[in-house]
Amino acid sequence: MEKLSLQTSVSALHGVGKVRGEALKKNGIVCIGDLLELFPRRYLSNRIYFLSPELCGQYAGYELTVDTTPILALLPGRRRLLKLIASDGAGTKVTIYYFNQPYLKNQILKGETYFFFGELHEKNGVFSLFSPEREKERKNGEEWRPVYPAIGGISSKTLEKLIRSVLYNVLSEIRETLPETILQRFSLPNRAKTILSLHAPLTEADLHAAQRRLTFEKYFAFGLELQRFQTKEKQRVADGLAPCRWEKFFACLPYRLTGAQQKAVSEIENDLVGSGKIPLMNRLLQGDVGSGKTAVAAAAAFLCAENGGGVLFMAPTEILARQHEKTFRAIFSQLKIPVFLLTGSTAKTERTAIIRETTQNRPYILIGTHALIEDTALCGNVLLAITDEQHRFGVRQRAKLREKGTLCHTLAMSATPIPRSLALFLYAPEEISVLDELPPGRQKIDTFYIGEDKKKRAYAFLREKLQAGQRAYVVCPLIEPNEQLCGLLSAQEAYKELQKEFREFGVGFLHGKMKNAEKSTVMEAFQKGEVQLLVSTTVIEVGVDVPEATVMIVMNAERFGLSQLHQLRGRVGRGKEKSFCILISASSAKSARERLKKLCETDDGFELAQFDLKTRGPGEFFGERQTGFAFANPEEFSLEFLRDAIQAAKEFPGLFPQKTLQY
Ligand code: ADP
Ligand code: MG
Repeated sequence: MEKLSLQTSVSALHGVGKVRGEALKKNGIVCIGDLLELFPRRYLSNRIYFLSPELCGQYAGYELTVDTTPILALLPGRRRLLKLIASDGAGTKVTIYYFNQPYLKNQILKGETYFFFGELHEKNGVFSLFSPEREKERKNGEEWRPVYPAIGGISSKTLEKLIRSVLYNVLSEIRETLPETILQRFSLPNRAKTILSLHAPLTEADLHAAQRRLTFEKYFAFGLELQRFQTKEKQRVADGLAPCRWEKFFACLPYRLTGAQQKAVSEIENDLVGSGKIPLMNRLLQGDVGSGKTAVAAAAAFLCAENGGGVLFMAPTEILARQHEKTFRAIFSQLKIPVFLLTGSTAKTERTAIIRETTQNRPYILIGTHALIEDTALCGNVLLAITDEQHRFGVRQRAKLREKGTLCHTLAMSATPIPRSLALFLYAPEEISVLDELPPGRQKIDTFYIGEDKKKRAYAFLREKLQAGQRAYVVCPLIEPNEQLCGLLSAQEAYKELQKEFREFGVGFLHGKMKNAEKSTVMEAFQKGEVQLLVSTTVIEVGVDVPEATVMIVMNAERFGLSQLHQLRGRVGRGKEKSFCILISASSAKSARERLKKLCETDDGFELAQFDLKTRGPGEFFGERQTGFAFANPEEFSLEFLRDAIQAAKEFPGLFPQKTLQY
């Protein structure tokens, strides 16, 4: 075999055939260099613990003796479930499940002792492990095993083997990407050492240092990008817009704007209206869930359309894009301003028609998902680009959307309150509009946190509300990829249970694995009230607006972050009726209890975000959740660290962010 280098194609590797090569390529892994940048999402320590509620939700190892002969059950969909009971040295019992691995029946023997590694669950005082890894022997000394994201069906173990087989051969080729002074100032390991430690950590300290560097890189790159973006923006100007007749717009709204909405609209107007050249608008509209950001977006769109321009409105999900389309159609059809929808499932002929309509130098509003930025043929004459739930998009995506218009203003909306200190990295104080007032008639959403044992009572309550003609959501977590099976299963199980229980009210089921068209059908049935109860995974988390929905039940609530639960809760309390949110959790872990209690105590999204920030670090606010920091000290990844990295980036204005630095 020829000598391996970072550029060597992965298909040259032993163990990578056509199928795996294709799967890797699909995920952007073409050469060995790419492969080495596929970092583990977390690490398993081979440290051994006793079963304890405190460990719930974490990966840990247990030395367990098998008490019962494993039994095999058949599940719907021809899935097979293996179940056994085992106990640790203190006699605490745990039920262990394996899906679709019937052969384990003959490998796990009653009376034998094994080391099991997995995430512990607890329900009503009963512990369980789903598909834990199992070893007969345990090496002496502590060991950290990387867990890779499942890529195109290639297991973490296979990826680990592949990576280890090349790692040492190419290590000397890995070049430093950060300035030497920065490495020294922040005591960061060099890049080769970082990559080595991430894939094959020798000690916890090494791993920790590597993770710290990775975070730094990410923040530093963010700082570089930010600078380029801001410098570029500052130089860009456009013609000021003519004032519009707002009465015309307000007459088409089904309600009066709140004071806060009016203030935001006039701030936008101030940015855009003027004679001669004006700087491009770059405004952030922050407002808690339900504060009415969409109406402000519509007002901004109106102003631009009245000035003859096109408006792009990008939402993070198709459901949300469709909803906005409906809202906007209702308003703008009265004003004779055309509204179009473009998503991944838009038919070719329709797309062609949209392109024709949007390149005629006439006003239009085009609403869509990521498809908007991916489609290069699109859009002439763009005056304004709006992003909804902007924390879902990276800086680069937003910039790309903006680039659609040669000279284009931007309005970013966010309900996940980016902590102010973080927002100020992106916007000047005068560029932030805040909706700090809810539309009138809203009542506080009463939030309860109950144990699994009280579920029946929650159901009785739900029944009352459904009988009164109201609508409700039941949300179940869909967990990490390797748990997807059991997560989806639990959502499906909940659906079955609820369907039986509440059949007469119509029960719908919505999850991320469904086709977009299927999703829309279910969502429409719920919007129309044909289905009164909607069981779902978190696909409804963002922005969905059905004012008739008054009850939100969240199963396994401990699985969600606070901001996410707050978003979920914001799906109810949007109409005139009193609304309720019921968090069900069987977890007895202290941190989970504290978080859920916090949610009952406050409905201030900002306070919740601060709490999240304190307990989980700023990673959550980078749009994509950070992983791999399973046991890193959250304080290390604090806002100060972010600030330092962004500050440091300012010293290197010419440096271009590396391809590897994603955020
Ligand atoms: P969010 O800020 O979470 O995006 P939406 O824009 O979806 O909130 O608005 C939430 C609900 O409040 C919608 O049903 C909308 O019609 C309604 N709404 C918005 N503004 C007002 C207002 N000024 N008066 C009454 N209802 C309003
Ligand atoms: Mg919204």
